[in-house]
Amino acid sequence: MPLIIPPYIPEGYEEDVVDLDGGDIRGLVIGKSVRLWWEHGVPCPCRTYRTINGRTNATGEPQQTCTRCGGAGIMYVNGQQIIGAKASTQDSLKLYAELGPHAKGTMLVTLLPEHVADHLDRYTLLDGCRTHSELRKRKGTVDRLRYPVLTREFTSGSEDDASVAVQRSIGVQFCMASDAEGTVTDVELVEGVDFEVNADGRIDWTLGDGLGTAPAVGEHYSIRYYARPRFVLEDHIFLTRDLYVRDNGVLCLTAMPVKALLVLDFLGGEPPVADDNPQPTSAME
Ligand SMILES: [Zn+2]
Repeated sequence: MPLIIPPYIPEGYEEDVVDLDGGDIRGLVIGKSVRLWWEHGVPCPCRTYRTINGRTNATGEPQQTCTRCGGAGIMYVNGQQIIGAKASTQDSLKLYAELGPHAKGTMLVTLLPEHVADHLDRYTLLDGCRTHSELRKRKGTVDRLRYPVLTREFTSGSEDDASVAVQRSIGVQFCMASDAEGTVTDVELVEGVDFEVNADGRIDWTLGDGLGTAPAVGEHYSIRYYARPRFVLEDHIFLTRDLYVRDNGVLCLTAMPVKALLVLDFLGGEPPVADDNPQPTSAME
C-alpha cells in the first residue's frame, strides 16, 4: 500500500494562497528595467562522423567547421529584445587574479514570467558598457574580436576647459601591434586612420593596409575597446514561480517574474551566430 501523508492545514488557513499582487510585481520589473538581448542557447545538432574498420559512426563531437556553432556545440536562436530588472552586477577581482580575463563577473536579474530561461541562454546588456582588452592575431582584412566593438557616444569636458562639454564617439581606446619577429612596434594604431570599426563591430584593416601601418596577417596586436557586457545563464533562482493569488475573490494561478543569475560569457570559442552584434530594436518608454 503506498504511504500517503496529507498536509496538515489548520482551520482558518487557506491552501496555496498568497497575498502577492502579480500586477504590482510585474510593474516593479517594468519600472526598474534595462534592455537585454536574449538568445536561446540550444545544443547544435551537428556531429562528427568517423569511419573505422569500414563502420561509420557519430563520435558525439560537434564539427569544428560548423557554420552555426563553430565547434562549440551550442547555437543561439530566437534572438530578441526583452527587459529585466538588474539587481546587482559585479566583476570578481579574486578570480581575475587567478584566471586572468576569464574572471567570473555576475549579474542578478529579474525577468518577466514570459521570459523563462534555460541554461546556455545568452544575454547581452543593451543598456550597458564595459571595457575589454585582448591580444589578437590578425586573420584577414576584417577581424572579429571576442566581443563586437561598441561605439560609445558620451559627453566629457574639453581638454582645455572641463566646464566645456565635448561630444565624443569612441569604440577602440588603444591598439598597438608587434612585427613579424614579435617585437612591439611602439606605433599606436588609431581608429579612423589605421582601421575602422564596421557595422558588425569588427575591425576592418583596409585603411592601414593602404598606409602600410596595419599588422600583416599572422602578426599580433593588442586592442582595448568598449563592448556590451555579455552573460550566460548560470542559475535559475525560482525556476518557476507560479502562485495561487486571490483576485477579487477568485483564485487564479498567477505567473510571477523569475530571477536568474548570469555570469560573464567566456564559454568555449566564439559561436558564429546571426545576432553576433545585437542592437536595440525599440526604445524604453
Ligand atoms: Zn554545430
